[in-house]
Amino acid sequence: MPCPDDASPSRRRFLKRTALGAAGAALWPGAACASPQQDERASGREGRLPEGLPPEEQLGIALVGLGNYATGQLAPALQETRRCHLSAIVTGTPRKAKAWQKKYDLSEAHTYDYETFDQLAGDDAVDIVYVVLPNGMHAEYTVRAAEAGKHVICEKPMATSVAEGERMIGACDEAGVKLSIGYRLHFQPHHRRVMEWGQERVFGPVERMNNGFAFPIGSPEGNPAVQWRLDKAMAGGGALMDVGIYAVQAARYTTGEEPVAVTAEEFKEHPQKFDEVDETIHFELEFPGGAVGKGRTSYSDSYNRLRAEAADGWMELEPAYGYGGVDGRTHRGPMQIENVNQQARQMDAFAACIQEGRASRVPGEEGLRDMKVIEAIYDSIDAGQRVQIS
Ligand code: NAD
Repeated sequence: MPCPDDASPSRRRFLKRTALGAAGAALWPGAACASPQQDERASGREGRLPEGLPPEEQLGIALVGLGNYATGQLAPALQETRRCHLSAIVTGTPRKAKAWQKKYDLSEAHTYDYETFDQLAGDDAVDIVYVVLPNGMHAEYTVRAAEAGKHVICEKPMATSVAEGERMIGACDEAGVKLSIGYRLHFQPHHRRVMEWGQERVFGPVERMNNGFAFPIGSPEGNPAVQWRLDKAMAGGGALMDVGIYAVQAARYTTGEEPVAVTAEEFKEHPQKFDEVDETIHFELEFPGGAVGKGRTSYSDSYNRLRAEAADGWMELEPAYGYGGVDGRTHRGPMQIENVNQQARQMDAFAACIQEGRASRVPGEEGLRDMKVIEAIYDSIDAGQRVQIS
C-alpha cells in the first residue's frame, strides 16, 4: 500500500520542481516585509533550538505501534529532533522489538508490549507517549497513557467518534497531562502561510475552497495496514477518517472559522470491498463568514490539493498534504518556501510546550472539532440532506 498520508510525487521530483521554482522571479506576497518573528511563526519553528538541548534535558518519547508511519516517518524524525528523542517502544511483535532495539540503541527495560504498557508509569525515561495505532485503539491507549502520568500525542483522526474524543480529553485533564494530535501540517511552512493569509484576509475574505485528498488503497490481501482501514470498528470510517480529515482541517484553518452546516454525498464503485467503510465522499461546508468549502476524499482515486479563492486573489497547494514535499502558488506566482521535516517540528514543538508550560498548538480540542465535522458529514449522508453543525 502506498503510504496514505504521503500520496504525493517523489521527493526527487519535488526537489527538482522547487529548484526551478526558486529560479523564477515571482514572489509570494509578504516576502519583502515579513519580520523574523513572523517568519518563525509561519514556518512553525518555535520550539526549535539551533544546537538542541543536551540529552539529559530532552524529553523521552515512547512510540506505541511500530507500523508504517512510526517506522517510516516518526522514528527517523526523532533522529532530527532537538528537544526530544526516542526512549521506549511498545509493540506486540518480538521480532520488531529486537530490530528496533538494535537500530535505535534501546534496552529491554524500555521495551513494552500491550500487556505491559501500563508499566510505562514507572519509566522515568518516558515523558511523552505517542499513540500510532489503528484509529479504533487511540482512545484506549491515550486514556491508559494519561493514567500512567504521561503526556500524549495521538495520531489523527484522534478517535472514531466525538464521544471517544471527549473521553480522551477528560482523561488527560484529570491526570494533569497534555494531549496533542498528530496534525503535522500545523508545523509545515506552506500551510502556516495559508493559515496566516487566509485568516488575516491578505487577499480579502476567503469565498470558495476546493480541498481534496485521495489515494488508491490497494488490496487488503496480505496487507494488515489495509485490512484495518477497511474494518469499521478499527478505522471508525473510510477515506474520510483517514485522509478526508485533511480537507476538513484545511477548510477550517484557511478561514479560521468553524463550519455551521454541511451537505455531503457518498459514492461506492466497489461496494463489496467497502461494505463497512466509505470509499468516496464529497462534501460542502458552510462557514459563518460566507465561505463555502468543497471537499473530496476517496480510497479509489488520487488527488492531493488545497485551493482557496478570496475576493482579491487565490492560493493553492499541490501536492498539499504529504510529507514528501509541499508545493504552492498564489495568483502572484510560486511560493518560495523551504520544506522541512514536519514530524520533527511537530514533536519538538510539543516538547517545548511541555517544557515551557504552554498549550499545544494542536490540542485534543482541535482533534475534537474535526470529529464533530466528520460526524456531521456522515449524518448528512445518512439523512440525504444539509445538516447544521452544532
Ligand atoms: P499500520 O497498520 O502500518 O500500523 C499500525 C500498527 O499498530 C502496527 O504496528 C500494528 O502491528 C499495530 N497494531 C497493534 N494492535 C493492532 C490491531 N489489533 N490491529 C491492527 N494493528 C495493530 O498503520 P499506520 O499507517 O502506521 O497508521 C497508524 C496511525 O497513524 C493511524 O491512526 C493513521 O491514521 C495514522 N497515520 C498518520 C499519518 C500522518 O501523516 N499524520 C500518516 C500515516 C498514518
